[in-house]
Amino acid sequence: MHILVCVKQVPDTTEIKMNPKTNTLDRSSAPTILNPYDAHAVEEAVKIKNQLGGKVSVLSMGPLQAQEVIKKCIEMGAEEGYLLSDRSFSGSDTLATSYILSMGIKKIMAMDSVDMVFCGKQAIDGDTAQVGPGIACRLGIPQLTYVEKINSVDIEKNVVVIHRKMDRGYEVVQAHLPCLMTIEKSINELTYVPLKNMINAARYQPIVWNISDLEADLTKMGLKGSPTLVRKVFPPPQRPGGELLQGTIDEAVDTLVHKLKGGILSCQS
Ligand SMILES: Cc1cc2nc3c(=O)[nH]c(=O)nc-3n(C[C@H](O)[C@H](O)[C@H](O)COP(=O)(O)OP(=O)(O)OC[C@H]3O[C@@H](n4cnc5c(N)ncnc54)[C@H](O)[C@@H]3O)c2cc1C
Repeated sequence: MHILVCVKQVPDTTEIKMNPKTNTLDRSSAPTILNPYDAHAVEEAVKIKNQLGGKVSVLSMGPLQAQEVIKKCIEMGAEEGYLLSDRSFSGSDTLATSYILSMGIKKIMAMDSVDMVFCGKQAIDGDTAQVGPGIACRLGIPQLTYVEKINSVDIEKNVVVIHRKMDRGYEVVQAHLPCLMTIEKSINELTYVPLKNMINAARYQPIVWNISDLEADLTKMGLKGSPTLVRKVFPPPQRPGGELLQGTIDEAVDTLVHKLKGGILSCQS
């Protein structure tokens, strides 16, 4: 069983600030991390590998610093890591990103068959959840989105059965391998990393490919290959602060009831 997980290096959005003058993200204000959804995807891939045998590879597209998240995945138990890094990739929207990643996956598949491709449900910076489905379309393989449980993987019959999250409940779906899944955080709990893996990761050198390593069409990547136009980026308006009710609990309750009744009366009139 060979599982390939797409992982993205993202700014920690709990720390990031907006530049109020330019209304753009101030990326220097936040440390970068492995996209949290992707961490759960790697955890799940390693769990399946430990049960069924095989290996886990990870693939990222980004600047050379993204090697850090690949090393993090090696710590978590992945065996191999690939980074697609080239100036011609920068400025890519989700359409171009899924094209570049699918070209990387095709190259890996040509060297070694891949049974399942995992992506996070979404990246916490772009938040579109489009890249996973985009890759599946380009590879021509089934896509299973919002996966919150992998019930069974049957290597003999070449099928997987999963639970996918819906608005009201879940759906149980069976698909043939190879397929692509986008993984929810609720699928598992992240476990502690053994010291042996940390040592492996510190020594590991990811495989880095640039444009000349991919048989890719330059017009389908970067700004040229990105039809999305970002017209404006702005922070949401700040919420007005709440009102603190003063006095004892009884007084506060009386005030609240009075305010609520007043609200209802003013709605009725
Ligand atoms: C016009 C335009 C220009 C842009 N220019 C840049 C730029 O120069 N630099 C830049 O960093 N971003 C740029 N972006 C943002 C970039 O398009 C998105 O970050 C990227 O396409 C991924 O989309 P997302 O973050 O919504 O991912 P989602 O679709 O929410 O991600 C879902 C999953 O796909 C996988 N995935 C997503 N991206 C990657 C990746 N890079 N490597 C591996 N796996 C991945 C992960 O498993 C992730 O969990 C630009 C966007 C636009 C519209």
